[in-house]
Amino acid sequence: MYEGVVQDLIDELGRLPGIGPKSAQRIAFHLLRADPEEVARLTTVLTEVKATIRFCARCGNVAQAELCRICSDPRRDQSKICVVEAPKDERKIPQIAIHGARARHAAAPDRSQTAMLEQPPFEHLG
Ligand SMILES: [Zn+2]
Repeated sequence: MYEGVVQDLIDELGRLPGIGPKSAQRIAFHLLRADPEEVARLTTVLTEVKATIRFCARCGNVAQAELCRICSDPRRDQSKICVVEAPKDERKIPQIAIHGARARHAAAPDRSQTAMLEQPPFEHLG
């Protein structure tokens, strides 16, 4: 256990997925030794991502507007849909497109997202 806010930082870092207690402590001490500018960049981007990023109303991908860049792209074939497991898998879509399907996509990271796909406007898609 460390004093006050240092332990708070370790505890908060340890809540992040994939960060165990030792990693949380290592990151905390990295931040304690880091230049103030480096820490400021991190706090700025954390604040900015929470203030400006949302999940696409149509597919669940990360987006800066109601629809993500793929769902709002009029060049996409609206009659096809490419379901990926998680938003990070959206990066694989160009590879899929090479194989002949210039489809829209949808991330389905959990059951609620999958249920969303079964509702309009997706129900008319084959
Ligand atoms: Zn989308």
